[in-house]
Amino acid sequence: MPVVPAGLARVLTMSRTASKCDMRDVREALDAHGLASSVAHGPTKAFIGVDGVPGVPDTLSAPPVVHEVIRIDSPYPLVSAENGHRSSVRAGNAVLGPDTFTFIAGPCAIESPDQAWAAWDAATEAGATMLRGDIYKHRTSPYSFQGLGASGLELLAERRRCSPLPLVAEVLEPQHVAALADVVDVLRVGSRNMQNCALLRACAESGKPVMLKRGLTATIEEWLLAAEYVADAGSLDIILCERGIRTFDASTRNTLDLTAVPFVQQRSHLPVVVDPSHASGLRSLVAPLALAAVAAGADGVMVDVHPHPHNARCDGPQALLPTEVVQLGHALDGLARRMGRTSVRGVDTSADRAGA
Ligand code: PEP
Ligand code: MN
Repeated sequence: MPVVPAGLARVLTMSRTASKCDMRDVREALDAHGLASSVAHGPTKAFIGVDGVPGVPDTLSAPPVVHEVIRIDSPYPLVSAENGHRSSVRAGNAVLGPDTFTFIAGPCAIESPDQAWAAWDAATEAGATMLRGDIYKHRTSPYSFQGLGASGLELLAERRRCSPLPLVAEVLEPQHVAALADVVDVLRVGSRNMQNCALLRACAESGKPVMLKRGLTATIEEWLLAAEYVADAGSLDIILCERGIRTFDASTRNTLDLTAVPFVQQRSHLPVVVDPSHASGLRSLVAPLALAAVAAGADGVMVDVHPHPHNARCDGPQALLPTEVVQLGHALDGLARRMGRTSVRGVDTSADRAGA
């Protein structure tokens, strides 16, 4: 049975053949040594995170079900980068990660079937590999449009039936997770909820990947610790989203922190996407920032689209017009390919979304 070496956190990588029983046995053995542990499931392996106890001998006698013990001196061991390894997250029939580039586009808020369909069709024409569209909105003012709520679920379900592109939508409350998880492929936790631990846990337990936006004033460490909550609750299917932070400069809605992209990729194995729409708040800045994000190594970009931005009920000034998103899609495609990304356009149709 394992004795975990001294120091900070350790991650035990379980062999592919480890059963639930094996996992339980290992955790019971750790428990007997007074070592708290948690489990997270990645796409191909399971991991057991352990808090090391100073003074425990630096030895390990592990049963064969433990593939390897990695010493990670990090406050966020489950999401931290391990030997430069970077992971991919499957969302429906798209794969988001170091080898691909994922273009996500669609309405900020779903306002009506016509508006949502027009935005999604433009996004599809632009070569998007994932669509966005929110029915729950977390607005700064209680008097702003809060989204269609549960009455929009069927709209999402219908689009998903009609299109192979996976959907991502924001979830605001734990009690909405199950219904939303039934109709979308990725649950998005917005910046204002980045540290809402109950929501993070509920999303992790849904079985759907979680896109975690960086909080308005969150440090990178706080952001990664929020991701660790999701991992600690059992899921490593996490996509980080840089969406700008609040700085002293109020010229733009936020300041896009592109430094965060390579910085986080060096410290965490999780994919990182960038949202230039919410970062800038200005349509004219979306394309240059999106391209800069690709150049900085982002694994994807997410943008707002609206057929009539001037009449939008939410975030119109930052929404791209259908023609603009098509133009941006072409530009991103070319640049992402030059950056060595593959599967830029289209989706991996070999996967069965029903099983994802
Ligand atoms: C959004 O993407 O619609 C959104 C509300 O973004 P954020 O949480 O980053 O403000
Ligand atoms: Mn918005």
